[in-house]
Amino acid sequence: MSLIQKSYAKAPVLLQEVALSAWGLYWKWLRLGGAFRRELAGWKERESWRRERLEDYQALRLRALLRLALGRTEHYPRLWRSHGLTDSQVLALDPSSLGRLPVTSRHQFSHRPWSVYNGGPGGQRFAIKRATSGTTGTPLTVAFSPRVYQSAYAAVEARGYHWAGVSVRDRRTTIGARSIVPAAQSAPPFWRRNYVERQLYLSAFHLSPLSAAGYCRALNDFAPGLMTGFSSSHYLLASMIESQGLSVHSPVAVVPGSDSCQPHMQRKIESVFGAGVYPLYGMVEQCLLATTCERGSLHVHPDFGIVEIVDRRGRALPPGETGRIVATGLTNTSSLFIRYDTGDVGRWSVDSCPCGRGNLPVLAGLEGRVEDVIRTPEGRELTRLDRLFTNLVGIECAQVVQREPDTLVIRLLVTAAADRESMEREMVGRAVSFVGRMKLEFEYVNEIPRDPNGKFRAVVSLLGRGGDSQSSSSER
Ligand SMILES: [Zn+2]
Repeated sequence: MSLIQKSYAKAPVLLQEVALSAWGLYWKWLRLGGAFRRELAGWKERESWRRERLEDYQALRLRALLRLALGRTEHYPRLWRSHGLTDSQVLALDPSSLGRLPVTSRHQFSHRPWSVYNGGPGGQRFAIKRATSGTTGTPLTVAFSPRVYQSAYAAVEARGYHWAGVSVRDRRTTIGARSIVPAAQSAPPFWRRNYVERQLYLSAFHLSPLSAAGYCRALNDFAPGLMTGFSSSHYLLASMIESQGLSVHSPVAVVPGSDSCQPHMQRKIESVFGAGVYPLYGMVEQCLLATTCERGSLHVHPDFGIVEIVDRRGRALPPGETGRIVATGLTNTSSLFIRYDTGDVGRWSVDSCPCGRGNLPVLAGLEGRVEDVIRTPEGRELTRLDRLFTNLVGIECAQVVQREPDTLVIRLLVTAAADRESMEREMVGRAVSFVGRMKLEFEYVNEIPRDPNGKFRAVVSLLGRGGDSQSSSSER
């Protein structure tokens, strides 16, 4: 713990809120100052461009990005030359031929993050730096110039918040993993005000059945228009509010991000908070952005990044087929991510969205992280294990863990009223149809631990994978 963190932890709540607000002032300037307004206008304008015009824009930005990668980074020229590509071949690529470049993953440069920075080790010395550890725990520090950061934030405002009928300037709550409340604190308040940004920041780590009523009161007192932060925390809080019969304030919209919002979670948050839920899919790397429209589809923004869904060899998959999500960031020209393996899997929708935004392709659900796939003894790979416990009364939170090839451990956080026996019987019955002959074991817990970065994992595989999958998981 640094000296600043130690002093913060010892300070009274009011002083902590002054510190948080000062920090908020700095971040408000970083996010909403400088180029923000101009960038916001750009995102608003391009939103209505036809697909062809967006493709031309992509091609233009891609060419500039490739030139930057060749001239200003260490990682890409070396990688591409080792695959037998000459600089002129690289510079001749467009979005449709981008697949000729190899896929790259974070473990290749996480020990030398500056090798993907524009300008190398010294090039981003004064930039904003943000660390990400991903679900595999491979840490990476990403650098942004203020302009890149403001542009990315403007994209979220234009295509995320505005679509949901809200703005970053509204009264907002964030349930997140910042250490604003000391870990050892056992009594409320587990939230702090950031007066500058009209934000109430709630700690994701202190939420429990015992503290839920306090969180609910804090929300009612603050009355936010917009709620942001972890999907899993909103889901957990909604479940507790419901099971404890509490009444809670309805915001205009909930725009969760940071971790995956599965359909059953989204339905629960919607019904308990009585508000539209618009999950956002982005990454610290700022190499892709997808936001939810009023018809519930997750639209990818082609002017933010080029998104591909590929098989294990990096070849494009047709709509409806699940594969790895590989992204090329067109906005982030400070840290370059080109054909970057995001570690997520998903598929393109086979249907077009009735909202009319045919220019912005639809991701038909993110189906969990690559390492969070269950492998059956017959070799089948399963995702979306939430089917096991969807709609079962009394479950506040659940996690599926595979430690052995033939067994799934279901970790459950349940209410006192839960009928464990009938719940288990129901899950065993459901499992037969898609899990097959695997054994189910149930573990009742008081808390389901999060990753060090605060992310919640619905499905955890602790198995090393065989054959082809092994090479693909060790790539990360
Ligand atoms: Zn739509």
